Amino acid sequence: MSKSHPGINTICTHIGELKDTQYKGAISPLYMSTSYAFEDVEVKRYPRYFNTPNQVGLAKKIAALEHGEAALIFGSGMAAISTALLAFLKSGDHVVLQNTLYGGTSNLVVEEFEKFGIEYSFTEDLKPKSFVAQIKENTKVIYIETPSNPLLTITDIKAVAEIAKTHNLVSMIDNTFASPVNQNPIDFGIDVVIHSATKYMGGHSDILAGAVIASEKHIDSIFQLAKNFGGSLSDYTVWLLERSLKTMGLRVKAQNKNAKKLARFLEAHEDVSQVYYPGLKSHPDYALAKSQMHGFGGMLSFELKEGLDASQFQKELKLIKPSMSLAGVESTILSPTLTSHALLTPEEREKQGIRDGLLRFSVGIEEREDLRADIEQALKALKAKEVTLS
Ligand SMILES: *Cc1c(COP(=O)(O)O)cnc(C)c1O
Repeated sequence: MSKSHPGINTICTHIGELKDTQYKGAISPLYMSTSYAFEDVEVKRYPRYFNTPNQVGLAKKIAALEHGEAALIFGSGMAAISTALLAFLKSGDHVVLQNTLYGGTSNLVVEEFEKFGIEYSFTEDLKPKSFVAQIKENTKVIYIETPSNPLLTITDIKAVAEIAKTHNLVSMIDNTFASPVNQNPIDFGIDVVIHSATKYMGGHSDILAGAVIASEKHIDSIFQLAKNFGGSLSDYTVWLLERSLKTMGLRVKAQNKNAKKLARFLEAHEDVSQVYYPGLKSHPDYALAKSQMHGFGGMLSFELKEGLDASQFQKELKLIKPSMSLAGVESTILSPTLTSHALLTPEEREKQGIRDGLLRFSVGIEEREDLRADIEQALKALKAKEVTLS
């Protein structure tokens, strides 16, 4: 594959577009057919075979975005993750996974893999040698996610890709938090890149989708399982996702910029004890992040000083909305203790570094000054109430 690619915004707007030959309209027509001719045609088309015109066009765009040869688009991020993992793992095989993974991914492994006879190990930490330490005779896949949720830890992509090559394993990455704008793991030797397209690719909090990008050969293996599992996406949503991707470069670059400035603002704030953002020089993996990311992303986490109630703080915010999901154009905030990590014991949370005052902030594209002002007024209101109470 050639090493030179069109720029990100050119890929976003043009690659994979379908031509409207009938009316010469400006955008890709939407083909909703679930039934296509089967005689005298080269391709037998059917939505569950991932080969309708809109699916093929969008897959081309997404493959180009990740500098890969081919892609498949799924009905959700989890459909993409489960199909990709199970395409390379069979009964008796073993997979090494990073210890800090998206909750849905660890649930899939912990709740389902035993019944398939698949063994798994989680690493102790994110150091390359900790991945090597878990590799066994029957290991087939190594799986990472960087930056991670919610503490934005960084895994060395190139080191893991090299470990996989040395041990003849398939390397996979969940690249959702970075988005293809900020990180292209195939350039570092990763075999399979996975996205929850529900997040930055969709970007408007209205699409549930997933994507897998890899070589033609790996995509063919994943496709064989995918057509049997049946996790493809409706063509209407495929078409909407293509439209959303046209502005992904613009959106994500604006989110990068907002997040970096807000991370610095929060780090300097007297009511904030800790900020987790890979673009801050104080982040332990700043240099590593810089070496493998084009931008540091729109996700950050921070802890309020002891005594300040994170859940009350969320209620005082007027512009930034408490919300479970992330990566939309609107800013949202979440308390891991009250939501994603609520089922863990306080000790388990503490072990993972998740304290009660922690807030995960998905920075949107609003004017930075307005976001900053919202945080300031919420902290003031919070402190005023705490003074009245004491
Ligand atoms: C949301 C998310 C997923 C799961 O994607 P769905 O589209 O909800 O199935 C996987 N990984 C990460 C990092 C996510 O944020």
